[in-house]
Amino acid sequence: MAGKKEAGEACFNGYYEEIYKDRWARLKEALTQESAGIGVSYEGYPSYYLDAGSIAAACALPVDSAESILDLCAAPGGKTLILSRLVNKNAAITANELSAERRTRLLRVLNDHVPHEKRQKITVTPFDGSIMYKKNKDSFDAVLLDAPCSSERHVLMSPFHLLQWTKARIRNLSYTQWSLLSASFLMVKENGYLLYSTCALAPEENDGVVSKLCKKYDNVQIVDIDCDTIKLKVEEISGKEVFIHPEKTKYGLHILPDTSNGSGPLFFCLIKKSISKFKN
Ligand code: SAM
Repeated sequence: MAGKKEAGEACFNGYYEEIYKDRWARLKEALTQESAGIGVSYEGYPSYYLDAGSIAAACALPVDSAESILDLCAAPGGKTLILSRLVNKNAAITANELSAERRTRLLRVLNDHVPHEKRQKITVTPFDGSIMYKKNKDSFDAVLLDAPCSSERHVLMSPFHLLQWTKARIRNLSYTQWSLLSASFLMVKENGYLLYSTCALAPEENDGVVSKLCKKYDNVQIVDIDCDTIKLKVEEISGKEVFIHPEKTKYGLHILPDTSNGSGPLFFCLIKKSISKFKN
């Protein structure tokens, strides 16, 4: 009897068809189109192009009154750039990135696109985000975790990665995401906010990881994100009308390219760290 194919394109398609049913064909088609990207710039500085979904995710983290902000997985720096626009002028941003190569890119993006006065308030650090909590418990008013993910848009565009694809990839990434999310939560101050985002389609990497956090800690509060407010913020930052239609999931919002004019995928979820009952 022929064995079930466990890797490759057919396996990939089967997996997502099971999740997205009839929608998968349209979604797949939209994923294979190049997304246009929106140019964001400070006056007198070159534009940095990023997906409308990425702008939306960064805009969903409340930072107006935050003094200390951590962007845990920051390279190449698109969301740090957006955060730098949203924070008040005294706020300090820590942009962390584990990969040395990607950190070089992050530094280049920040140096080229952020005005000196704002740039001085951003510190780039090289740590493994999953263990950073050991020295930084309850330290930040706001944390953005834009986690490494299965990035299906890139998989679909790469015959090599499509051939290599297995379900185990999703499982393994969800473990990494979980360790980063749990660490991020520990680093947020009480009453502070944590924004979790990925560019994954797989629910296991999105709501699935958030669900684990809700089970592990008694003080996880999921915050409703108002789609209209986010859309307005994205339009304000990009200086033009944007066509995004975030879809509600159990814990957050998902922007998908078949219904958002090519933007996404981008999942994001806003979490508030309330006061734990078990605090001593
Ligand atoms: N936020 C970025 C932006 O908007 O431009 C994109 C971040 S990308 C999705 C995820 C990043 O996490 C990658 O640059 C990767 O090198 C980094 N990363 C992976 N594991 C990490 C870890 N344990 N600690 C810190 N960064 C990590």
